[in-house]
Amino acid sequence: MNSTPSRIPTLPRLVTEWNDSGDGQVRCTLRGSGPAYRTLFRVTLRLYDTAARAVRGFEAITPGRVSVYVCGATVQGVPHIGHLRSAVCFDILVRWLEASGYQVTYCRNVTDIDDKILRAADAAGTPWWALAERNLRAFTRSYDAVGCRPPDVEPRATGHIPEMIALMGRLIDGGHAYPAGGDVYFDVRTASDYGVLSGQRLADIRPADDTDRPGYKRDPRDFALWKGAKPAEPSWESPWGSGRPGWHLECSAMSTKYLGPVFDIHGGGLDLLFPHHENERAQSLAAGDGFARYWLHNGLLEMAEQKMSKSLGNVLLVTEILTKVRPQELRYYLGQAHYRSGLEYSEEALDEAAAAYQRIERFVTRAVRALGGAPSAAPAATLVPGTAPPGETPALDLPISFTAAMDDDLGVPAALAAVHAAVRDGNYALTTGDTESIGGCLAQVRSMLAVLGLDPLNPVWESGDSGDRLYAVVDALAGLALRQREAARARGDYASADSIRDTLANIGVTVEDTPEGPRWELRR
Ligand SMILES: [Zn+2]
Repeated sequence: MNSTPSRIPTLPRLVTEWNDSGDGQVRCTLRGSGPAYRTLFRVTLRLYDTAARAVRGFEAITPGRVSVYVCGATVQGVPHIGHLRSAVCFDILVRWLEASGYQVTYCRNVTDIDDKILRAADAAGTPWWALAERNLRAFTRSYDAVGCRPPDVEPRATGHIPEMIALMGRLIDGGHAYPAGGDVYFDVRTASDYGVLSGQRLADIRPADDTDRPGYKRDPRDFALWKGAKPAEPSWESPWGSGRPGWHLECSAMSTKYLGPVFDIHGGGLDLLFPHHENERAQSLAAGDGFARYWLHNGLLEMAEQKMSKSLGNVLLVTEILTKVRPQELRYYLGQAHYRSGLEYSEEALDEAAAAYQRIERFVTRAVRALGGAPSAAPAATLVPGTAPPGETPALDLPISFTAAMDDDLGVPAALAAVHAAVRDGNYALTTGDTESIGGCLAQVRSMLAVLGLDPLNPVWESGDSGDRLYAVVDALAGLALRQREAARARGDYASADSIRDTLANIGVTVEDTPEGPRWELRR
């Protein structure tokens, strides 16, 4: 009998330091927190699966790889912060999977043909495709602004009509769909467990209101896969007459095309659970595809206890909110709650989140300065999951309290508690001048924030080349003012010195007198 050599990971390469911090928490500094680390510590990611209504241990279909499909925007308008919350929640999921050593394929679709788009284009007097294109650009800008890792593919419905027609053909051949009056409908009574995902019995499900020709349906709950062409509306040819796809069909067709007939994780907002996700699942299972293994839903952003959506008219546009806070503060606000909980919008909560993030930033700034200006951790690029060269695990330095929180159904509130604990330790180290501890805390804080997409030193938060140039100019001007203040003090003219300091304060420049001379900082 041949014996297979056991593949035990080498300990010294993985664990560099165990550290009893004295507060009841034992910290471990790990290098290369990839699959080997997870095997060694028997760590399992657990995720709440809506279909199971339970937290389940995550097992990838293919070891080391994860496929993720997230329902993206219907681009009938510009994004509001409810859209961004969903994007940030799933961005954190993808970053955590990548930080855990998985190679992630992330697909997020764009619905660029839909009743709502046609209505909005009509109202604006714009071609529907131009309206969709313009709004899609606004979505991309917003995702980029808050540092979301772009999906690996962002397929559009209009680019996948042949795939949708092929899927409809399979459903009709299998007796699960039928053409009627130029439309094609899915026959919900042929799906053995229709309603299971959203937890409804078939008898309790309301009629689908997705057509103005309901008379053609065999059952009022049947939903449209294909809508027969109407005058002045866009349409495509199909074996059942020209028309355009219903909303649900695209996600089944596109997830199969890019991720295969069965994939790991399907995500989306809780508002998509029914009918959209129920119908996606019914179509794909009826066609014989395994479809999603885990269903994740993010809670909604609410205002005055109502879901934030365009139809309710309580929209808070991303462009508008970014005049109140910086993008990284908005991201902190949107990501800080557990992804499954609802988030009720208030300006006070937004301000509190911004202040909490600024506390972290202040530590990072002071720590970098104390260490002589060079960040002690790995270069920013390697700290950002998804940006490391292929095959290289990002060099993250994560305390166990953080990894345990993230593995527990992405427990960001507890993970942020670990960030703030490290910031407190780091601030203490700054008061004692303990350089080694400052460096250790800085590396941990930056690593944890990188996983959450919030590393303050990530170049994504810089406002481009002009930002660097402006900083240089402001630095020179502030330096000039500070030299004049020093000169005034030297000649005993304290009134002028104070006046310069007050003037700087009024324009948002805080001056700190240090043993090495005065330093300036922009007030946040
Ligand atoms: Zn979808």
